[in-house]
Amino acid sequence: MEDCLFCKIISGEIPSTKVYEDADTFAFRDIHPQAPAHILVVPKKHVDSVAALNEENADIAAKCLLTVAKVAKQENLENGYRVVSNCGPDAGQTVPHLHFHILGGKRLKDSMD
Ligand code: 5GP
Ligand code: ZN
Repeated sequence: MEDCLFCKIISGEIPSTKVYEDADTFAFRDIHPQAPAHILVVPKKHVDSVAALNEENADIAAKCLLTVAKVAKQENLENGYRVVSNCGPDAGQTVPHLHFHILGGKRLKDSMD
């Protein structure tokens, strides 16, 4: 999709620190890390957010979550981690390409709001 930041990161047009890639998903370090480990997992196919998932494209979400699990193992987050997907304005979604934040490497705050 033209003019989508994460589509440009996936294509390599905008550089990123890649941590994992397969046929369907891409994972890279967040430019403003909010934890010692802060990685974004995105589908290669453009989907706006969780709100755009449906019966036809649900496999995209499953593939992203499998990548989350693989990346967390690769990053040695055996003590735990948080998976966050901001969806829409009230959640503060700033990039309208579905992404799952992996946050870990420290004891995270209990509050999620
Ligand atoms: P959101 O706020 O939409 O849930 O998450 C977007 C995330 O993308 C933010 O955590 C932000 O730091 C990250 N981000 C924004 N622009 C870039 C960029 O150019 N490169 C990388 N690696 N991360 C970015
Ligand atoms: Zn995109």
